[in-house]
Amino acid sequence: MTELLFQTDSYIKEFEAEIIAVEEDAVILDKTAFSYRGGGLQSDTGVLTTSQSQNYNVKEVIFSKGKVLHLLLPPPSSSLLGEKVKCKIDWENRYSQMKMHTALHSISSLLYKKYNSVVTGGNITPEKSRVDFEIDHLRQDRVQEIEEEMKRIIEEGYDVSISFMEREEALKDPDLIRTKVNLIPESVKIIRIVEIKDVDKQADGGVHVANTKEIGVFKPLKSENRGKNNKRLYFTIE
Ligand SMILES: [Zn+2]
Repeated sequence: MTELLFQTDSYIKEFEAEIIAVEEDAVILDKTAFSYRGGGLQSDTGVLTTSQSQNYNVKEVIFSKGKVLHLLLPPPSSSLLGEKVKCKIDWENRYSQMKMHTALHSISSLLYKKYNSVVTGGNITPEKSRVDFEIDHLRQDRVQEIEEEMKRIIEEGYDVSISFMEREEALKDPDLIRTKVNLIPESVKIIRIVEIKDVDKQADGGVHVANTKEIGVFKPLKSENRGKNNKRLYFTIE
């Protein structure tokens, strides 16, 4: 089992770890601050450096069958087993995704509070992101309302906190019902909660900024009609 450092601290940029398994073109570490692909986020990239100063690029990190696989280039040889490595995350990409992700949670909350609209999907990249939601129309006036409300949430600076809750407790929490804790696999007994104070509370596994102020400037890009009651909004952060 790999200890997931990024789940308690999203600001770790460099760390040391030990390679506990080598599998084809990937290694497994005893602990990692690289966040893996999932929950609408791309994986981190970065570099691993061995004690002999050999560098391996971390191309992608995925979670598969209970394992966190760091895909390396060049591919690792089995002699790396037991090696202590220095790890460095491509911070620019990561920080951008953290801002986008906290922005996405903020939007999902404001859509729900303002329009009773439920988010049905989303995708985050360091450059731009999108959110899909159920709503009757998304004309320019409404996009403007969303932009203004996001501006307020960012300027007022709400703290983002991470906590962990027993599954049974999370299932009973009325604030979490919207995020469907019941759909999380039953084997997961401890649920990670991300709360943007006074804004949003969700069961969530991804990386976030510590305060909405860090998001910066929220910019809606184009919107798309995805059906009668389903709209898509692209946005970016500047
Ligand atoms: Zn999320």
